[in-house]
Amino acid sequence: MKVLIVDDSRATRAILKRILKPMGVTCVEAADGQKGLDTLAENPDVALALVDWNMPNMDGLQFIQAVRSDSNNDDVLLMMVTTESEIQRVSYAMDAGANEYIVKPFTQDIISQKMRLMGLDV
Ligand SMILES: [Mg+2]
Repeated sequence: MKVLIVDDSRATRAILKRILKPMGVTCVEAADGQKGLDTLAENPDVALALVDWNMPNMDGLQFIQAVRSDSNNDDVLLMMVTTESEIQRVSYAMDAGANEYIVKPFTQDIISQKMRLMGLDV
């Protein structure tokens, strides 16, 4: 399984990779939403994108809206992983097409539980 990590924090990307790799996941990564769209286009086998909210150029909400506006991406699952915890934010993200929402800080167990909830085999 291939997962796209979209986060402007190199440290967060590294933590997520360290969690996902032992699950047999191949990771590709991008530092903002625009690069995330490019990386997704180059990797049509991405099953899931983990998406930060606050990023330069294109934020996570804009990324999710862009992904969901392209029918090529209908099979891509989207999980917001963010410090933004207000219920209104969660609601915006889910309305835009996010499948799951995790508030930082997260644990390995939360990541894997949410992936299984989305039907992924990890
Ligand atoms: Mg950020």
